[in-house]
Amino acid sequence: MIKVKGYAAQNAKSNLGPWNFQRREVGSHDIQFDILYCGVCHSDLHQVRDEWGNSIFPMVPGHELVGKVIKVGEHVKKFKVNDLVGVGCLVDSCRTCDNCKEGLEQFCSNGNSMTYNGYEQDKKTPTYGGYSNTFVVNEDFVLRVSEKLNLPAVAPLLCAGITTYSPLRHWKVGKGHKLGVVGLGGLGHMAVKFGVAFGAEVTVLSSSPSKKVDALKLGAHKFVVTSNENQFKSVMGYFDFIIDTVSAKHDYNSYLSLLKTNGTHICVGAPAMPSDFSAFGLIMGRKSLAGSLIGGIAETQEMLDFCAEHNIVSEIELIDIKDINTAYERMLKSDVKYRFVIDIATL
Ligand SMILES: [Zn+2]
Ligand SMILES: [Zn+2]
Repeated sequence: MIKVKGYAAQNAKSNLGPWNFQRREVGSHDIQFDILYCGVCHSDLHQVRDEWGNSIFPMVPGHELVGKVIKVGEHVKKFKVNDLVGVGCLVDSCRTCDNCKEGLEQFCSNGNSMTYNGYEQDKKTPTYGGYSNTFVVNEDFVLRVSEKLNLPAVAPLLCAGITTYSPLRHWKVGKGHKLGVVGLGGLGHMAVKFGVAFGAEVTVLSSSPSKKVDALKLGAHKFVVTSNENQFKSVMGYFDFIIDTVSAKHDYNSYLSLLKTNGTHICVGAPAMPSDFSAFGLIMGRKSLAGSLIGGIAETQEMLDFCAEHNIVSEIELIDIKDINTAYERMLKSDVKYRFVIDIATL
């Protein structure tokens, strides 16, 4: 076994702190890479605090990993030592179900292996994530990372990036469409960048007027303060698509009124508490309330290649790992522009 240094939560009430553990030896189809940077996702916080009720402890969070390959198994074909690589939310899946065959490993019918707070395909070996110094993974779940982009700012693309890229591609959002982005955090700021890159007219919908300057700087064409009744009314029936990145409980009904006929409201934020909504909001205007979860491996690679070609990265604040608990508190107050990334050299 390989000795690993990491940061873990021992239970739902504890802060994260140093924890040593082990990973498997590099198998014939595995690669080992040293983690250089790991993004901090809002879902790390949900799971560390067991807000989704499925937490496995001790937990080493982190599913936005980038690093450099240090070892490859004898049958590995796609990667060699020193390659820059990334791992997102998935480290394995059954490979045989219809979803896996279609490249939708995120929806594997037999249960995929999440990068942390999950189990390997043996269904008993826990997975440990990227708040750690080294990683072992099957090469099929490894992404190639371009040397052209600022590496720490690439890390959040592995979750925040693909989570927003995939639905915009699935619903073919682009030229001629009006796209609303609800929430301007880790996910929201990536939705703005992709929406603009795909040619849509992008409006940020936010309750904080203070975010206007930044929204426009990120490329958004318009900004609507949702708490301002006049501004809210000005975009009734306006949008073809709304991508909703908010992960706290909120009201979907009012946003449905902002959609055009046939419009689609896409949820990518995952509030722990359920919301009420009225079917009237859908019936009047044949509207859709939809959801989307990260993306498959092939699409994640496509997203990374698109980002390299169009010079798209996440806006980040680089932190030392000892500051992770403070970072969580700041994330809860939306006090981050727009994603914390841990410099793993500080571990
Ligand atoms: Zn995430
Ligand atoms: Zn499957």
